[in-house]
Amino acid sequence: METPTDPTAIEHRILEGIARLATALRAEDWERSRAAGVNPTQYAILQHLEGRREGAGVKEIAAQLGVSPPTATDSIQALERKALVEKAEDQRDRRATRVRLTTAGRTALETGDALTGALRNTTEGLPAAEKQGLLVTLVSMIRSLQEQGAIPVQRMCVSCRFFRPYAHPDASRPHHCDFVNAAFGQSELRIDCRDHAIADPASRAATWKVFERG
Ligand code: SF4
Repeated sequence: METPTDPTAIEHRILEGIARLATALRAEDWERSRAAGVNPTQYAILQHLEGRREGAGVKEIAAQLGVSPPTATDSIQALERKALVEKAEDQRDRRATRVRLTTAGRTALETGDALTGALRNTTEGLPAAEKQGLLVTLVSMIRSLQEQGAIPVQRMCVSCRFFRPYAHPDASRPHHCDFVNAAFGQSELRIDCRDHAIADPASRAATWKVFERG
C-alpha cells in the first residue's frame, strides 16, 4: 500500500486516538458498574464520592459528571434506594445537603475497581518513562480544559495550595507537598488527591508557570 503523504492534522489524529481510548474506557466502565450493581452514571458518582469525607453537593456532582442537576438528582436517589449513598445536612449551609458514600457504597466501588481490563493492562504495560510522560501530558491537558471552563477544577497537584513545584535540586524528586512535608517525583503527581486544597487563581497561575518551565 502506498504511504499516505497527506495525513490529517496531527491534532485531529490525536483526538481520533483519544476517542478510541474513550471507547475502551466506556466498555470497561460498563463492566465495572455492572459488577458493582449500578449503571455507569451511578458508578461515576460513587467514584467522585470516594475519598471525600465531607461528601459532595448535588451541583458539584452534576458539574463533575457534565450532566444537569436534575439528572444527577435522579441518579443520587437511585443510589440512596440501594443504600450506597446517604444524605447529610451541610454544616456550612443548613439549607443544602451533602451526599456521602456509605460502607455498602464503598464495597460496591471496590468490587467494580477490582476488575482489570484491556485499557488498565495496556497502561500497566507501558515503559516507566512513557507512563510518566503521558501523566504529565494528561495533567497539562486537564489543566487547559479547567482554564477554559470545560470541566471543574480537579484535585490535581498543580491546582493545590500545598504544591511547590521544583522546590528541590534532586531531579528524581523535585516537587514538594507541604501537606505531608515530603518531596516527590513527576510520576507521583496526583490527578485526584483526597488531601487537595484548592489554591486561589493567582497562585495556581504562578505555580503552573514554575511547573511548566521545569
Ligand atoms: S496534598 Fe495532594 S494534591 Fe496537594 S500537593 Fe500534596 S499530593 Fe499534591
